[in-house]
Amino acid sequence: MEGSPQIRSPSFTILGTGQDGGIPQAGCSCPNCIAAHSEKQLARYPVAAGVSTGHGEHILLEASRALPHQLMIWGDKQELECPIIPTHLALTHVHLGHIEGIGQFGKEAMGVKNVKLIASDKVLYFLSKRGALTPFKPLPFDNKIHTTGFTSELVDIEFIRVPHRDENSDTHAILVSGPKNRILFLPDHDDWKDTLALHNFDNIRDWFRTLEISHAFIDATFWDTNELQGRNMSDVPHPTVTETLEMLGERKDDDPEIHLFHLNHTNPLNNPSSNQRATIEQMGWNVAERGWTIEL
Ligand SMILES: [Zn+2]
Ligand SMILES: [Zn+2]
Ligand SMILES: [Zn+2]
Repeated sequence: MEGSPQIRSPSFTILGTGQDGGIPQAGCSCPNCIAAHSEKQLARYPVAAGVSTGHGEHILLEASRALPHQLMIWGDKQELECPIIPTHLALTHVHLGHIEGIGQFGKEAMGVKNVKLIASDKVLYFLSKRGALTPFKPLPFDNKIHTTGFTSELVDIEFIRVPHRDENSDTHAILVSGPKNRILFLPDHDDWKDTLALHNFDNIRDWFRTLEISHAFIDATFWDTNELQGRNMSDVPHPTVTETLEMLGERKDDDPEIHLFHLNHTNPLNNPSSNQRATIEQMGWNVAERGWTIEL
């Protein structure tokens, strides 16, 4: 129906599950990258998700360089046979993989105006210094450690501060709530201890229970600390999956669904037949795949 937004159930679609560099990563000939060149379903776009309110608002979480493909996947999941043009963009922080697609909104590409931008003052400041805000209309943002970024009839979006190499901006996780489900989107943070301490918790399960989430997409950049041969892993701090599994143990009946994402190309979880993949599945957890849609 032209002119009136189509009413459908609110939804959350995962549009990217890789770390900022995506998979395959430029110039890399590791087995995971080579496999992703030959088998397209093994490729991972940098993290992003699409939230549709069911009332014509489409909130993109993160602007990755795979934006053209991701908007098409989102449209496909909305049964539109065309890409979604986001009405809103929400950004967790300014590391390159999360903002690389911002230029696509400008006059060289989509040429959109007044896309509502939901981000902290520090993120806005970083982008404004680079002249990257022209296509956007920033929404007011209350820079508290837990704050609402967007509300509508059925869907709310909250921002939760998390510690993460905050050299250029602060970093948030995003909580997306609808009538049926509540989803935590946590692509990057430095370690569980600091994140939990900031929110006055000492274990992941209690924090997740208090957030009342049904699903969590969480930082699974590295499997363990041996992964980056020849590089100092303290330069790129993330909780490892082994550490997360140690803290969580096996899935319990009242746990949320936990989906691991933001995978680095080196992570053995990229290989569907790895022992590591079997381990996490036996424990009741998953590796996220792009295109998954959850009714909100
Ligand atoms: Zn990242
Ligand atoms: Zn690689
Ligand atoms: Zn980051």
